[in-house]
Amino acid sequence: MSANAVGHFAGTPVEFPAAATRSRWQAIKRGFRERCPNCGEGRMFRAYLKVVDTCPVCGEELFHHRADDAPPYLTILVVGHIVGGSMLVVEEINDTLPLWIHMVVWPILTVALSLYLLPRLKGALIGYQWALRMHGFDPALRDHDAPSEAL
Ligand SMILES: [Zn+2]
Repeated sequence: MSANAVGHFAGTPVEFPAAATRSRWQAIKRGFRERCPNCGEGRMFRAYLKVVDTCPVCGEELFHHRADDAPPYLTILVVGHIVGGSMLVVEEINDTLPLWIHMVVWPILTVALSLYLLPRLKGALIGYQWALRMHGFDPALRDHDAPSEAL
């Protein structure tokens, strides 16, 4: 019995060395901290949402990610539940708050939380893609495309 993991790519069985398994949660946590999912040290972003082509510390290729619309979707999902739920709780606790307080607090909280979470959720998603060896994150299946212009 082989100790290697076996996956499939385009219908073809692909064997991965057992030592090359990647921890999904570790990669997600490192990505949420905006760090390289491989080493956990190098910065993942060169700007607010621009992913570096390769990790400056370990050289892992990060341009293979295809985060697309998932990070904004996740951000809206999380922020919407936090802010929406908080609005209902505050209204239940004190329904005599002046309307201007609601008009100031909730938009500021929404924007601040969104700006905080968007790059972190993008990093976590890229870490997850890396751990699952998606979109060229598997060195055995790389076609060595040039870095994409994807966000
Ligand atoms: Zn790295």
